[in-house]
Amino acid sequence: MIYLDTSATTAMYPEIIDIIKKYAVDNYYNPSALYTNALNVAKDIKNAKQKILDILHGTGNIVFTASGTESDNMAIFGSKKFKDCKILISNVEHSAIYQCAKKLEAQGIQVEYVACDRFGIVDEDDFKAKLSSNVALVSIMHACNETGGVNDIEKLVKLTNQLAPRAIFHSDGVQAVCKMPINLNKLGVDLYTFSAHKFHGMKGVGGLYIKKGVNINPIIFGGGQENGLRSATENVSGIISTAYALEKTYKNLDIEKNKKIMNYLETSLRKIVPNCIINTDFQRSLSNILSFSVPNTRGEVLLHLLEDKGIIIGTGSACSAQKAHTRIPIALGLSKEYFDGMLRISIDNSTTFEEIELFVKEFDNCYKFLSNIMK
Ligand code: PLP
Repeated sequence: MIYLDTSATTAMYPEIIDIIKKYAVDNYYNPSALYTNALNVAKDIKNAKQKILDILHGTGNIVFTASGTESDNMAIFGSKKFKDCKILISNVEHSAIYQCAKKLEAQGIQVEYVACDRFGIVDEDDFKAKLSSNVALVSIMHACNETGGVNDIEKLVKLTNQLAPRAIFHSDGVQAVCKMPINLNKLGVDLYTFSAHKFHGMKGVGGLYIKKGVNINPIIFGGGQENGLRSATENVSGIISTAYALEKTYKNLDIEKNKKIMNYLETSLRKIVPNCIINTDFQRSLSNILSFSVPNTRGEVLLHLLEDKGIIIGTGSACSAQKAHTRIPIALGLSKEYFDGMLRISIDNSTTFEEIELFVKEFDNCYKFLSNIMK
């Protein structure tokens, strides 16, 4: 099987099973307990936290959660609001942000949606125009899960500090972490989300970085773990394996190799479907995602034809398993005939050139087959 949907999830490193055994079976102690074995587990969690902060160059705290989605919820609902405030998000945010914003809107908080260009990158003029002294929160994703487009977060944070000095700046880094170097101090963000299953860690483990000096409220209450910010007995093996996976995936990251693969892929796709639209601008995107849209075609059909050949690719969220919607194609400015045909190829360090060549060959066959029956 050739797996080209690493932006959806990645395979967990098999050696993480040893970490799970170590902390779930052998040293299964509750890190909040007072005996030495438990204190040792708490110390291991503290070290894992520090390792993540060091790798991502952050000065502050990390609160571990059960997903990128939970971290995003914590950022949106936990950050402080004030009377007559508004919040800003981009119009291509993942639904983990978008649906939270919708909920706030329903509660009476004003939400403004910043436009992006056709590659899913925030329009800086529109962003600037929407900043004002009553902005309480800005949430702009670091890299777009649909197109791979990377926002210049450092610049957006600086603009926010100038024009909306009361605002907390959150960035959803779920797709960016382990796909590009991250320096949280340099970015200047107050809050930053990551999710372990996107970089070969366990599913159901996420984190929210909180810059030193930034205060947010908890959204989960109980025993007061994580300094009261996220009550619940810690997912010890999840946390420790996240630090492990982060370190290993960064060591393996080969951006140049990814770029070569993506260049070849783009050239080949343009030959096969001359009127396709490439939604990824390689000068300003992650090196591991290529999004493209095929006109008058259901991406889902191509996905299943390729699946029959043993190749797994992703569709845009416009045709996700949950529900079809048009928010993203509209935000990217695609015209109607391209709405259903959005496809996403995403790779990781294990992807080989041979696999991509095979994908191109099979995609060519599948597209010709489909075009013939649609004639
Ligand atoms: N944010 C982005 C940009 C994502 O791509 C995803 C998952 O695809 C999430 C948030 C949600 O992360 P999780 O699957 O850990 O809940």
